[in-house]
Amino acid sequence: MDYISTRGNGGRIAFDDVLLAGLSPDGGLYLPAAWPQFSDADLRALAGKPYEDVAFAIMYPFVEGSISATDFRALIAAAYEGFFHRARTPLRQMDSRLWLLELFHGPTLAFKDVALQLLGKLFDHVLSARGGRATIIGATSGDTGSAAIAGCRGLDAVDIFILHPHGRVSEVQRRQMTTVMDANVHNIAIEGSFDDCQALVKAMFNDAAFRRELALAAINSINWARIMAQIVYYVFSAVALGVPARRVAFSVPTGNFGDVFAGYAAHRMGLPVERLMVATNRNDILARMVATGRYECRDVMATISPSMDIQVSSNFERLLYELHDGDAGAVSAMMNSLAQSGAFDIGDAAMARLRALFAARRVDEDETLAEIARCARDHGGVVDPHSAVGLVAARDMDTEEDVAVISLATAHPAKFADAVEQAAGIHPPLPDRLAGLLEMPERFSVLANDLAAVKRHVRERARIVG
Ligand SMILES: *Cc1c(COP(=O)(O)O)cnc(C)c1O
Repeated sequence: MDYISTRGNGGRIAFDDVLLAGLSPDGGLYLPAAWPQFSDADLRALAGKPYEDVAFAIMYPFVEGSISATDFRALIAAAYEGFFHRARTPLRQMDSRLWLLELFHGPTLAFKDVALQLLGKLFDHVLSARGGRATIIGATSGDTGSAAIAGCRGLDAVDIFILHPHGRVSEVQRRQMTTVMDANVHNIAIEGSFDDCQALVKAMFNDAAFRRELALAAINSINWARIMAQIVYYVFSAVALGVPARRVAFSVPTGNFGDVFAGYAAHRMGLPVERLMVATNRNDILARMVATGRYECRDVMATISPSMDIQVSSNFERLLYELHDGDAGAVSAMMNSLAQSGAFDIGDAAMARLRALFAARRVDEDETLAEIARCARDHGGVVDPHSAVGLVAARDMDTEEDVAVISLATAHPAKFADAVEQAAGIHPPLPDRLAGLLEMPERFSVLANDLAAVKRHVRERARIVG
């Protein structure tokens, strides 16, 4: 499979280059040059298959030419054997038409494991085949860092450096990162905010010499391989409920638009989907966009679903490209407007296409808390605040009675125990396998918010250097 950039000047490149590059040099995001197609018969053949088999069938067309079928099967098996549920992403029935898709059975209890467990393996495989190494650098306010570290720990070809704001992530989130003792894992606590951490990472990537010297690679949510891995559970859950004989819709708690774009991709590849609900918290740029056709940035507000507290949904650019039939000039113009004035308008034709498949709902903090309490009362168990946002929107969907609604549960309730306790008076315990977390030794370096010092630290530790 070849890939192209949403800005039109990235050429045509292969999967392994897309994986390592992350962002296209023209500033755009990569998309496959053509979407693989699955017929109704193909989908029927996937029903009842193990997660790994569905994953292979859905993803292999995207990596073909870069990775052999035998190797890819082995990478998928290795990625998901660390999940603590046989079904990997099980469905839990909530009522006659509502289902919860539990995506949090991976090592760090959030749905990001589904993609990042595979991504680490893909990096290692592609780099080993080339005889190369890479240095992954990222900033985190919590979830992404621990999932990235869990995905990359112990890999031969990869060193990973994760910056977090010192004293400003929860104890569980910090410990999920800092108790990992593999020699290729480096946690850096920056004396500053999350924005400071992000600015440091951006500055390192923008330093071309440093970037080359350390073979910097990114694993943030604009990396195509993450989207690819997330397409799988849309198909897996839909065929489990009887698609194509039955109709389904999805409700997706959304931040960067990565997860819900994977749902769009599944639809584009032939999965019949009645509706994709974009569920947002008070940071509602996407809900306002669906209502008005105008995409306009505002300040970020802190909420009890912090992994969705974003100002700009970077993956939305991929949908814009699709809505404009691959008109990269139109996408570039909108992105330039966003960079210059913090907003752009989407034309009527594109909005009509968007609204034919997508709906959106902003969910307030009170509604989120009430939903958590309702789950404890009516459904025999709490959900985390992100999953609750999805459920509130799912219950509100205008789909017909016979459409099964699948609401994505993106984190384990124990990961956001304070909000759950506030809502339902229940303190969800960590699963047994993480019970020792609070006693395990930690290892991390505290550094000043100083670019030169951070660069020196990385250079001294990355194995890529001499
Ligand atoms: C990252 C994250 C989200 C949002 O996913 P996007 O792909 O950014 O839309 C939702 N819930 C949880 C728990 C997350 O960690």
